Amino acid sequence: MNLFPLFVDLARRPVLVVGGGEVAARKVAALLAAGADVTVGAPALTPQLARLAADRRIHHLDGPYAERWLDGSWLVVAATADRATNEAVASDAAHRRLFANVVDDAGLSTFHVPAIVDRSPVIVAISSGGSAPMLARRLRERLETLLDPDLGALATLLERFRTRIRTRLPAPAARRHWYDALFDSPLMAFLRARQPALAEAALEASLHAPTAPAEGRVALVGAGPGDPGLLTLKALRALNQADVILHDRLVSAEVLALARRDAEFIEVGKRGGGHSTSQDAIHQLMLEQARAGRRVVRLKGGDPFVFGRGGEELEFLRSHGVPYEVVPGITAALACAAYAGVPLTHRDHAQSVRFVTAHCRDSFDALDWRALAQERQTLAIYMGVAGLERLRARLLAHGRAATTPFALVENGSRATQRVVTGTLGQLPQTANAHKVGSPALLILGEVAALAETLHWYGAPPLVALRELSIPHAA
Ligand code: SAH
Repeated sequence: MNLFPLFVDLARRPVLVVGGGEVAARKVAALLAAGADVTVGAPALTPQLARLAADRRIHHLDGPYAERWLDGSWLVVAATADRATNEAVASDAAHRRLFANVVDDAGLSTFHVPAIVDRSPVIVAISSGGSAPMLARRLRERLETLLDPDLGALATLLERFRTRIRTRLPAPAARRHWYDALFDSPLMAFLRARQPALAEAALEASLHAPTAPAEGRVALVGAGPGDPGLLTLKALRALNQADVILHDRLVSAEVLALARRDAEFIEVGKRGGGHSTSQDAIHQLMLEQARAGRRVVRLKGGDPFVFGRGGEELEFLRSHGVPYEVVPGITAALACAAYAGVPLTHRDHAQSVRFVTAHCRDSFDALDWRALAQERQTLAIYMGVAGLERLRARLLAHGRAATTPFALVENGSRATQRVVTGTLGQLPQTANAHKVGSPALLILGEVAALAETLHWYGAPPLVALRELSIPHAA
């Protein structure tokens, strides 16, 4: 080990920063966050540093570096662009046995500032010993996504209970066992759900019955449209903590690949309206798994509450007393619009957007067609391509112009994405000509035409084929 890691209490302790540029400003911000009494020595300050000095949040020593600036400091940071000055600071500091950090110069530094993941009071610090700061930064990003944001809240709660925990579980082995179980208990879920009273009650309960069996629970998680980059950090964490993952067929393989390797995967998917697992069977499966004490992730394409039957699943879980949480996902309408370059509510063209589903005939007939046919609104329609002819006929019959642009997005956000554009009058013909398949989302409204100029992902939109001069297109 070439460096000894330390966590230093800088509260109200004088620290000197030499340099008044952007780099110095970043160091100053970090030192202030730790409560240090910061002095900045430099002939000129960035506007941000000048403001801090004016507000008396830092002291300013004006002019070129002088050795006496070090008087009274516990630490010193050299952040000037001038190597000779940095060297002078380092060597003066060494003389006084003061620890000095020279920014981006491991050789001159006697202490390094690590990359951190801040879950105060828990802090993870990463150092590459100056060998590869990029690597440390990358590691930090990885850890940032992996570590629960509520780790800090957990630590604070445990600190408050510390004496009670020791009294209740005096034997270190028993205590360790109890702590292990704690991380898998509902406590974390309560903290995530911002239910501090319930979290505290769970902690109490586990102190009184330290060997209570693990309580199973369900996380209803949105997997987004397919691109794994559109998964939320919470979804990623849930996937990494799951014992069992019940997923729809719509969930992409790339997303599933991010889940815990030894989780059990059960596909309960549906395709094109044909149910391969009935909704009741899904409910029963969730219940069985949760009652067996497992952490269940019910993973759905897009967002679980947008045409995803997430509501019914929650009602079922609630009625059976199974605890749950919900992690939203990026719904197909938002993803397809973004990846096709269609601003859904571009102010020049639309004042509202409606998410509509029309998978089967009954739901189709129940729609308010008069409202849907109105201008200056965007429709994002979740449906199979089979119903496009009916859709066209209804909208035209209720007065939507045949010239209204559409963008049909197949496999939105995936490597196989295709976008087909045209006008309402030729919608079914155009879709047929390009053999658009599932899943596909239809965006209808003036904004859809923007896909032709704003597209950026994959191939440019396929436009209505020339040979399709359809006689009955209004
Ligand atoms: N809960 C999901 C929607 C489920 S309904 C969500 O929020 O996105 C299924 C319909 O969503 C499909 O028929 C299709 O219209 C649409 N869809 C889902 N993923 C899609 C994708 N990657 N590209 C295009 N359409 C998609």
